[in-house]
Amino acid sequence: MSWSWKICRLAGIPVYLHWTFLILIAWVVYGHWAAGNDLATTAEGVGFVLSIFGCVVLHELGHALAARRYGVATADITLLPIGGVARLERMPERPSEELVVAIAGPLVNVAIVATLWLAGVRVPSSSQDPQFLVDGSFLPKLMTVNVFLFLFNLLPAFPMDGGRVLRALLALRMEYSRATNLAARIGQFMAILFGYFGLTTGNPMLLLIALFVWIGAEGEARQVLERVSLRDIPIRSAMLTDYKTLAPSDTLGHAVGLLLAGTQQDFPVLGVGQADRVLTRDALLAGLARGGNDLLVGDAPLIELGRVEIGEPLAPAIARLRQGGEPCLEVTEHGRPVGLLTIENVGEFLMVRTALATARQAKLEPISG
Ligand SMILES: [Zn+2]
Repeated sequence: MSWSWKICRLAGIPVYLHWTFLILIAWVVYGHWAAGNDLATTAEGVGFVLSIFGCVVLHELGHALAARRYGVATADITLLPIGGVARLERMPERPSEELVVAIAGPLVNVAIVATLWLAGVRVPSSSQDPQFLVDGSFLPKLMTVNVFLFLFNLLPAFPMDGGRVLRALLALRMEYSRATNLAARIGQFMAILFGYFGLTTGNPMLLLIALFVWIGAEGEARQVLERVSLRDIPIRSAMLTDYKTLAPSDTLGHAVGLLLAGTQQDFPVLGVGQADRVLTRDALLAGLARGGNDLLVGDAPLIELGRVEIGEPLAPAIARLRQGGEPCLEVTEHGRPVGLLTIENVGEFLMVRTALATARQAKLEPISG
């Protein structure tokens, strides 16, 4: 995820911090400063925010480790001011498994509350007062926050866990895409409510949540729709078959000629060691800046060319391209290269399919009025 810094690695999963979290820290420091607190109290306030962080990381780790049980890896965990995001490689499609993965996070917060409770921590009655989160003592505050995190995450709206729980419960009774659409609608209704209360009470946090929920619902519905419509489509139909390749002994000048002559931006370089490599447009430009037209392709900064077998389904290959890292994939048949899958070409393929589907619908449904 961009605009994030990697802070550590837990159970093999990199943990990132999104820059907007700094706004939260700044807000806490400002709150203490405005109240005329000394440095020690302010430091404790910031320490408190950081320990909330810790709880959010554990929450996300709950999702990640539950997903790992079903063979789903987690690319990374990112911390945002409204919570964390564990980017799972995919969501298990079985509703019962999605239910377990979605609920595992909030259950971590329950476990933290239970542990604090067993350790004798109690929340005083003054916790109703918002000032409690500033003035209260550390552990009762941490307990309150975890109760809040639990309740907040179970709101039935994407991208919150409650949205997934709701979808999983619906999907036990109806088709997955219908369940997603219904859950997304409910989520957008919640977003409108958040937005309304945010405006009437002048609470910017609620407005921010409304925005996240609205975007989350749209994104989730679109992704599932695409996954469902791409199911059963083979890679063969979306791959590029007419494309240029390079040899390590070609010059960058030759590559520039190919770049300017067509729309292709990434060129497979065949015959370098075991796996094939790829010369991306950025690498080509970097190579030109370093060594000019005469530099050999083999000496330019090449990256490894990922492969997919022609019989594999299209959707996971697209997901792999979208996740970044790989600009294109070499399509092989029995280990022999037969095509190239690029994000641009897949985009065109999807546009054509949408246009054809619209045309079919227009023929079937006469326009009235
Ligand atoms: Zn969660």
